[in-house]
Amino acid sequence: MKKLLLVLSWIVFQYQAWSQTNIICTNADAEQVMKGNYNPLNYLPPVVINHPDSIVQLMMQAISPDSVHATLEVLSTFATRHSASDTVSLTTGIGAARRWAFQRFAGISAQNNNRLLPSYLQFDHNLMCNVVQHRNIFAVLPGADTADKSIVIVEAHIDSRCKDDCDTACFAPGIEDNGSGTALVLEMARVMSSFVYNRTIVFLLNIGEEQGLCGAEAFAVYAQQQSIAIRAVLNNDVVGGILCGHTSSPPSCPGYGAVDSLNVRLFSLGGFNSVHKQFARFVKLQYKEEALPFVSVPMNIMIMSPEDRTGRGGDHQPFRVHGFTAIRLTAANENGNANTADTSYHDRQHTSDDILGVDTAPPAGLDSFFTDFNYICRNTVINTTGIAMAAIGPMKPDLAVVSPGDGTVIVTITQQTQYLQYRVGMRTTSNDWDSVYAFSNKLSDTIPMTSTGLHIFSVASVDSNGIESLFSREVLLNVTGTSEPAGMLKGIHLAPGMPNPADEQTIITVYSDRNISRQSYLQITDLSGKEITKIHVKIETGVNEVLYNHGFHASGIFYCTLFIDGKRLETVKMIFTDIR
Ligand SMILES: [Zn+2]
Repeated sequence: MKKLLLVLSWIVFQYQAWSQTNIICTNADAEQVMKGNYNPLNYLPPVVINHPDSIVQLMMQAISPDSVHATLEVLSTFATRHSASDTVSLTTGIGAARRWAFQRFAGISAQNNNRLLPSYLQFDHNLMCNVVQHRNIFAVLPGADTADKSIVIVEAHIDSRCKDDCDTACFAPGIEDNGSGTALVLEMARVMSSFVYNRTIVFLLNIGEEQGLCGAEAFAVYAQQQSIAIRAVLNNDVVGGILCGHTSSPPSCPGYGAVDSLNVRLFSLGGFNSVHKQFARFVKLQYKEEALPFVSVPMNIMIMSPEDRTGRGGDHQPFRVHGFTAIRLTAANENGNANTADTSYHDRQHTSDDILGVDTAPPAGLDSFFTDFNYICRNTVINTTGIAMAAIGPMKPDLAVVSPGDGTVIVTITQQTQYLQYRVGMRTTSNDWDSVYAFSNKLSDTIPMTSTGLHIFSVASVDSNGIESLFSREVLLNVTGTSEPAGMLKGIHLAPGMPNPADEQTIITVYSDRNISRQSYLQITDLSGKEITKIHVKIETGVNEVLYNHGFHASGIFYCTLFIDGKRLETVKMIFTDIR
């Protein structure tokens, strides 16, 4: 017993020794606003613009490639923004960079009646290359309604690195990783700070991403310690690259030199009933409805199955781990390497080559393929629309769904029943909604369905300006037609992968009406019946999900078979294709 206690206290000691301590917000006003303890009248501008349509239109007009370019030019002057680099120099190193970012927030505030509150989040971490004290930089834009104290965060990491994680002297301009995200967040602060939102928005630049997501972890822990309610977090990391390397991170790109400036990826954890996926769908829907009709170059937002690219991570993860809703936006073509074992490949990220661009045709000026300013602006539009609507929209409702057996479903709102309109999101085999159905002036409606079988439903409230809340939890229902018996699915069933077709990762689902204690596994085979892999699953009542990573450039038809106690139960077909 004593030995066990000793081991336990050693583990506790180790955890404390590794974690972020002495976390302090340097701006007391910013802290009080994030906690909801303030008078919103003190932060209203002389002219209040709070209509969502006006906000989106004016923001889109204001987002500027020249402004993003100018920010990246400055970021490239610090030589390195390594988290443990020089903090004394006025021109180079992380100290100069973070003071500049703070001043940039302060400058934006000065142009907006001092409404934006710049701050540092200072914390100690003793495993970041022998430097103990670190500072995230952030700015708080107070919301107009403190009845709902939850805040919305848009973040990016500002730190950079070379191959050696603790090389603080090497030239590490970090323009794509992650000057692009930093420039995007600063551009958002610039174009969003003149408008009024119901909820508080935080523009956050993290440190220490490259040393284990330390800065984001510090902010998530701080929010928990201070009981700050976070509605959603949108992380931007590697958001400017449009040029494909020899290889790249999944879903990867077609081949060296290929350019893609029209697609962008949203990564989030989970499949069925994941608050993170629901937020990803919300961001996509807001872009589609509020911004897309007015943009000259439309973007396609791909909602990815996994939480991040294979084997890699980002600053959305600490927030998710601490119980907050958090997703990541990343460029489609990443000029980085998924396969670090490939010795012939030269990775641009985490090297001295992560530069702003080259002038291939003087005197034309810089080619910005590595980080395309227009592409960053298009991603900024996606961010501003999603963040603004999350900061404006109404309260999230809840629902009940039944299938009466005549090819329809009856959806009933069970919580937040005060709104005049609701929208129902429906999906079957995709990470995205197949359709979004609206009804008004009632709390229950009958929806005619175009297909029977398993469907997933969720619901959002709609306010008088037509703005959705975040979508509710998801409910799974077996929709039955006139010839079939109504009711929930009986027994154990294997569903097709979601999405299907998939690029290289898919979520395989096993539905069960009971807990299974016997040994169960999924066997993946190719067309000839050859086993690719075997995945053990623990089957419990309800929805059981497995994220299956099929791999890069391995398109074709494959089969997934569920075995319980050695007995073959069901097989589904899975199609993998190079989406682009
Ligand atoms: Zn990064």
